[in-house]
Amino acid sequence: MLYGVFSDVHSNLEALTAVLDYFDDLGVEGYICCGDLVGYGPDPVACLERIRALKNLSLIVGNHDLATIGRLELDWFNQYARAAVLWTQMQLSAGDRLFLEGLTARLETKQFTLAHGTPRNPPEEYLLSAGQFRDNVPHVRTWPLFVGHSHMPLLFRFADAERLQVEAHFLEEREEVLPREADGRSAPVALNPGSVGQPRDQDRRAACALYDSTKGTFRVFRLPYDVAAVQAKIRAVGLPEYLALRLDYGQ
Ligand code: ZN
Repeated sequence: MLYGVFSDVHSNLEALTAVLDYFDDLGVEGYICCGDLVGYGPDPVACLERIRALKNLSLIVGNHDLATIGRLELDWFNQYARAAVLWTQMQLSAGDRLFLEGLTARLETKQFTLAHGTPRNPPEEYLLSAGQFRDNVPHVRTWPLFVGHSHMPLLFRFADAERLQVEAHFLEEREEVLPREADGRSAPVALNPGSVGQPRDQDRRAACALYDSTKGTFRVFRLPYDVAAVQAKIRAVGLPEYLALRLDYGQ
């Protein structure tokens, strides 16, 4: 089965549209979304509507989603993120909030596991180091593990059969990864598709990935979208200027 994998949409409708159109063109049969649907950007309601309409969707909430529905303290957010959460709270309908309230921060299916940050602390811990990967392995039963939160396309897996070394690397565009074990099952591997709406790897293009569960392959793709249109909306609704500027640089 071919899955479209995406994360950290952050209310960026133009970027989300580019990604979903691309998935459509490729004929994906299911969707995997690792959370942070809202926050930062100017189109929370429209993004929720697009995501809710997806068929065969595996979806979890991220820290920005949880803060928006009052389930996570704002103390840990910087001033820009906090301003966007407070603004987003005023945009959502009761139905939008109910939808977010119905989602979990971690999800395990028969084929894969989803966690926004890490399986042991789904909404908040960033999976960025080999040591963190090793510590999180006991918290997962079904591999691969898909994560988001860091807004960077990353891979973590063991480099050897004895599990002495962890391989951690940045996923280049179209690089194919995820060979399976001899018995056909997926070995422990964590995959981050990067961020749709606010990439932080100095590449302003939207990031997403394709996961082919039959072949066992995962590939990241980057898609251009109308960044200027999103920046104009951010300014028009009065969100902090920094949130518009950072989209230019992929920060
Ligand atoms: Zn995020």
